[in-house]
Amino acid sequence: MTGVAKAIDGLRLEGVEAVGKNLLLRFEGGVTVRSHLRMNGRWRVGPIGSTGAGRPWLLLRGDTVEATQWNGPVLTLDVGPVRGLGPDLLADETDPAALVARLRRGDGARPLGEVLQDQRLVAGIGNMWMSEALWAARLSPWLPLANARDEGLLEALEWARSAMRASVAGARPVRAVYRRAGRACGRCGTPIVSRGQGDDNRTAYWCPTCQPVP
Ligand SMILES: [Zn+2]
Repeated sequence: MTGVAKAIDGLRLEGVEAVGKNLLLRFEGGVTVRSHLRMNGRWRVGPIGSTGAGRPWLLLRGDTVEATQWNGPVLTLDVGPVRGLGPDLLADETDPAALVARLRRGDGARPLGEVLQDQRLVAGIGNMWMSEALWAARLSPWLPLANARDEGLLEALEWARSAMRASVAGARPVRAVYRRAGRACGRCGTPIVSRGQGDDNRTAYWCPTCQPVP
């Protein structure tokens, strides 16, 4: 239905690259497939023939292994660079200070929790890292972008980058606020609170004392 299978059938997969939460599969001939798993999608790699029953979105098969994509809400053909995505927070060439300037281009009235998860501004930050980074920088997810200082934004971005890199390297994330509603803030003891935020109604978690909205 998406035209992806037809476009890549018989082509060799030459490389896979992560840009934010997008997986870019580059096939010979310059064909690129973009996969984004959102909350429920997954890729599974196993020995050839190991994909059991079900209806995968895509099956990539080599000589010895196969990769199956399940429940993929985003599976598209991309021509050229990924359009509309901001710089990857985890990429070495991404400068967090330049990202602050980029965030400023967004709507100043938007709350920080939404801004940090806008993949067009900066790619890679999801709900959990947004909540944790803003707690670390003592910024409320409800603070309008225009009311946040550059130093605070930089601190949040650098904290997120560092923590996400550690997580990719295998460290188990220590959660200060994410999914801790009702439990005491590790800094001040105030119960953590949560509320849905943004068009996708993703839940933001924060400490109302450490992260006040002026
Ligand atoms: Zn607190």
